[in-house]
Amino acid sequence: MRYDLVVRSRRAVLPDGTRAAAVAVSGPAIAAIDGYLAPVEADRDIDLGDLALLPGLVDTHVHVNEPGRTEWEGFATATRAAAAGGVTTICDMPLNSVPPTVSVAALREKRTAAAGKCWVDVAFWGGAVPGNEESLLPLHEAGVVGFKCFLLDSGVPEFPPLDGPGLRSALGSLAATDSVLIVHAEDAAEIKAASGRDFGSFVASRPPVAERRAIEKVISAAAATGARAHIVHLSAAECVAMIAGAKAAGIRLSAETCPHYLYFAAEQVPDGATEFKCCPPIRDAVNREALWRGLEAGVIDCLVSDHSPCPPELKSFGSGDFGAAWGGIASLQLGLSAVWTAARRRGRTLDDVARWMAAAPAALAGLPAKGRLAVGGDADLVAFDPDEAYVVDPARLEHRHPVTPYAGRTLTGRVRQTWLRGTALLGADSRAPDGEPVGRLLKRG
Ligand SMILES: [Zn+2]
Repeated sequence: MRYDLVVRSRRAVLPDGTRAAAVAVSGPAIAAIDGYLAPVEADRDIDLGDLALLPGLVDTHVHVNEPGRTEWEGFATATRAAAAGGVTTICDMPLNSVPPTVSVAALREKRTAAAGKCWVDVAFWGGAVPGNEESLLPLHEAGVVGFKCFLLDSGVPEFPPLDGPGLRSALGSLAATDSVLIVHAEDAAEIKAASGRDFGSFVASRPPVAERRAIEKVISAAAATGARAHIVHLSAAECVAMIAGAKAAGIRLSAETCPHYLYFAAEQVPDGATEFKCCPPIRDAVNREALWRGLEAGVIDCLVSDHSPCPPELKSFGSGDFGAAWGGIASLQLGLSAVWTAARRRGRTLDDVARWMAAAPAALAGLPAKGRLAVGGDADLVAFDPDEAYVVDPARLEHRHPVTPYAGRTLTGRVRQTWLRGTALLGADSRAPDGEPVGRLLKRG
């Protein structure tokens, strides 16, 4: 049998561990996995040597913002950044675009806006907001990978939060479907208004107890309904024990955290540096260590970006006021390097990173062809140099706006090539692609 492509690596990160292997590709799928030097015949035979071969990452938390706020980010720019960062599947959040994805008609608008512009595969979350309960099952049938809700003001008026009864009722509607409700879990009653350039005051305005109170509500609603719930962007490490307890009790709960909570610590954030603003906030180094332990223990399942950019003027208002600035960190292109930089220092392996950033998010979103190097799966591959260090240059970012708190940081681990369903995406010097976009719009399946 002659294959279209074989990619060989002495460090192929397979589901059962890292070893020397040859991954053979036929059409869009992985057709065979053999020994590194196996006499596999293919039209293109690429030997990565000591470069690692990873599964394409799956980032289930990306705010693309198109249509409606395309000047913040868009499908073309977000998916180019994803390709450059080794991310081959993104799941687009239902809010910040206009309309938000809270009905089948809005999903159709979103898919129309995305069609023909995507460099990586794109799936969609639906939204659960007050009054759209009758849209949840139709959206599920239309192929959304699950539903997002807020328990406090989302930052945009067209995507209001659910109250306690609303949360329970949305979970109740989804219980029979196996669809997951992913929840922005902060409790407004525990949050104070923030203003000024002092990062410490901003962090203090959104204390861990705000996350704790909201997660308690999610756990009790998930327990009462039997539905699947997921905590997005967990920041307060004191909640790890509560999540572990709920899981141990058989409640269908999972959780994610984000590269910025694992890489940065609040003590390092300069006053007025609003590029670090996100909600919940980046907390102190002790909290960061405890979050790592929650991840390493398997209580936190996924590592995803929460890429949520906006135009630079909305990020700073020129004043560095943490109250006024938009909350959201842009990192889609940098997440793998940021996580690997910190993870390798802790003695973690690329197997861990592939589980956190590819396999677990694919499982969360119900995308069985994604997230692992396995025969029959999509040939989404990443050539990654785990030893190359580089300084983050905003001019090399493909995000619509180059604002990122990683600017100027030295990160270790660089994406050299990304293949989407067997097609190489990156050009010379690992730059983002040119030509015709090859990404597809996915449905849960
Ligand atoms: Zn988000």
